[in-house]
Amino acid sequence: MIGLYGGTFNPIHEGHLRAAEEVVEALDLECMVFVPSARPPHKSEAGDDVIAPAKLRLDWVTLAVRGNARFAVDAIEVERPGPSYLVDTIRALRARHSGSELVFTAGQDAFNEMGTWREPGELFRLAHIAVTTRPPVRRGSLADWLPECVRSEVEIAADGLSARHREANTWIRQLPVTALDISASRIRALLRAGRSIRYLVPERVRAAIEASGCYTAGPREGEEDTIS
Ligand code: ATP
Repeated sequence: MIGLYGGTFNPIHEGHLRAAEEVVEALDLECMVFVPSARPPHKSEAGDDVIAPAKLRLDWVTLAVRGNARFAVDAIEVERPGPSYLVDTIRALRARHSGSELVFTAGQDAFNEMGTWREPGELFRLAHIAVTTRPPVRRGSLADWLPECVRSEVEIAADGLSARHREANTWIRQLPVTALDISASRIRALLRAGRSIRYLVPERVRAAIEASGCYTAGPREGEEDTIS
């Protein structure tokens, strides 16, 4: 089984990396493929908040996964023109990895929105789905927050932690992971405020982000920490 970890990764951070590591271990995946979204249909720029160029976000993800033999990156969405619809990506990756089942990995917040994504019913047929916890962690049964459109298509286990698609035989599983309350939006806000992002992202990613000057007016000078 191969994991797919989709996201804007604007920028990638330790919350993403730790969750991916724990999913790989829990499901004994061959590997986890990070797929940065080029033009995320559900995220927009507001005020000073920017979406960094896709090529930069891809470079940062590549730097972040380096050294982990079970992590990989696929540039498929960056190379494909038009909006980055997950359903197109999963179809293409199923063809590319035809001998393996795919497990799409989503945090609870992303999973909760999947009903609004393109062809949501198909998403649940094409791949298994691992739903990782993310602060603020929601406990309870999948029945409480399963997208409406797949409700009648899946059978939820008695403990509420998993479900099986009646026709496609794909599954959905809740997977608790170490709670790291880190978000890309907070990292961008810190950078805009001229504050440190050290230890929230891998060190080489921090260096690359700061050198790009992407979320600030320009590259930061010096190495001084400004967290008070
Ligand atoms: P933003 O703050 O800009 O909305 P984000 O931090 O949520 O970004 P995304 O790239 O949108 O990052 O997230 C990609 C995937 O990673 C989503 O499925 C999301 O739920 C999951 N994720 C993000 N941060 C964490 C975290 N701290 N712990 C576990 N999962 C996370």
